[in-house]
Amino acid sequence: MITSKVDTLIINASYLITVNKENQVHKNYSIAITNGQITHIAPTEELAHLEAKNKFDAHGKILAPGLINTHTHLAMSLLRGWAEGVDLQGFLDRVWTAESLIMNPENVELGTRLGAVESLLAGTTTTLDMYLFPDAAHKGAVSAGIRHISGPIFLDFPGLDGLQWEQRIELAKNWQQVLSEIGGPNVPTFLMPHATYTLSPSHLKQVSELAQQMNAGISIHISENLSENDQIQKKYSKTPTALLESSGVLQSQTIVGHGVHLTDDDIKILARFHAAVAHCPGSNLKLGSGIADIKKYQDSNLAVTLGTDGCSSSNDLDMWSVIRLAANLYSERNGAENLKADQIFRMATIEAAKALGLEDSIGSIEVGKQADLILIDLNKPHLIPLHNIFAQLVFAVGRADVSDVWVDGKHVVAAGKSTLVEFSQLSAQVEKVSIRLHEHSKK
Ligand SMILES: [Zn+2]
Repeated sequence: MITSKVDTLIINASYLITVNKENQVHKNYSIAITNGQITHIAPTEELAHLEAKNKFDAHGKILAPGLINTHTHLAMSLLRGWAEGVDLQGFLDRVWTAESLIMNPENVELGTRLGAVESLLAGTTTTLDMYLFPDAAHKGAVSAGIRHISGPIFLDFPGLDGLQWEQRIELAKNWQQVLSEIGGPNVPTFLMPHATYTLSPSHLKQVSELAQQMNAGISIHISENLSENDQIQKKYSKTPTALLESSGVLQSQTIVGHGVHLTDDDIKILARFHAAVAHCPGSNLKLGSGIADIKKYQDSNLAVTLGTDGCSSSNDLDMWSVIRLAANLYSERNGAENLKADQIFRMATIEAAKALGLEDSIGSIEVGKQADLILIDLNKPHLIPLHNIFAQLVFAVGRADVSDVWVDGKHVVAAGKSTLVEFSQLSAQVEKVSIRLHEHSKK
C-alpha cells in the first residue's frame, strides 16, 4: 500500500459530529489534516496507510467542529462581575466609567487574550468580537490562536480611543491592511457600528456605504431591550431595524446582536436581507432584557446564531451554557416536542459560519474545510450512558469536558491547557489591572 504523508491524524474518535448537510454522525472515525485543512474523513482502518507528523488518539472522545460565538466583547472579560444588579442602561453607565479608567490598547490586548484563552479552553474556535482598539484586541486574540473577527468600531462621539469620526473612517479603510500585518487565522472583514442609539442615521449610512465598497460584513447591536426601542422610536419614529434598512446597513452581510424585541415587520426586513440574529440568552436574562422568540424568527427564514455577549453582562464566555439556555428557553416557549437539539447545535456551528460568510471554510467537519476542531472527553460520570448524542451535547456537555482544540489545524489547546499562553503569567497581568481598577474607582 502507498503511504502518503499528512500533518496531523486524529484517529479513533468514538464519535465524529460532522454537522454536514445530512447531519451525519460517524462512529470510530479518523481525520487527516494538512496545511490546516481537512484532507480525509474515514473509518479509522481506511486511513492506516497515512503517515503523520502528529498523531492523536481520540478514543473515548467526540470530535466536533469548534463552536462559533457571533456576539461578544472579549476585552470586557477584565470587567467580569463589575456591573451587577443593573439593567442595560445601568450596566452601560457603570461599564463605560470603568472602561475609561483601564481600557487602553495594552489592556484591551490583555483582556482580549484572556477572553480568547477562556473561549478556546471552552471549545470556541471563532469569535465575532466588537471592541475599541480593535487592532490591539486582534493582536491579543491571535496570540492565543483563536479565529478572531475584529473590526473598526463606530460611535458618534470620541470613545475611549479618542478617535474623531473621520479617524474611524480612516482606520476602517486601512483595516484589511491592519489584519494582514497582525496575521492569524483567515477572517472576513467586518465593520462594527455600535448601535442605532450611538450612531446618527447619516453616520450609519456612511458606514454602510464603506462596508459595501470594502465588501465587509456588519456587526451591530439591535433591539436589546424595550427602552432602546422606545428611545429610537421617539427620536426617529422607526424601529432600530427599520433604521438599519433605511440607512442601507442591511445591504451588507449583517449580524445583529441580541435582536430580542423585533416586530413582525423587523423580522421580515431582516429575513429579506439575509441578516442573522445573534441570540444571547445568557446576557439577556441576566440584564432582564427579555427573551428573543427564535422559533418565530426561524419560521420566518431569519437565521439565528448564538453569542455570549461580553463578560460584564454574561460573566463568562461559555458557549455550552448559551446552547443549553437557548434550548431550554425554546422548549419553554414552544413546547418540548418542538425542540430539536441538533438544530440548536447547528446554530452554534454551521449556521454561525453561514452568517459570517465562512460556510465554505468552517462550521462543519468536511473535506476541504479548515481544521477548527474540538475533542470532548466522554469519560465522565455526567456523560454516560450516551443514548442521544445531540441531547448530550446540548444538555450535558460542559466546557470542562473539552480536552483539545485545533484552529486551522494548529493544536492550540492540549489536554485542557493553552499551548500558546502561559496561564500564570496571564493571571498575574490581569490581577495588576484589576488592582488598578479598584484603586481608581475609589478616588
Ligand atoms: Zn454586545
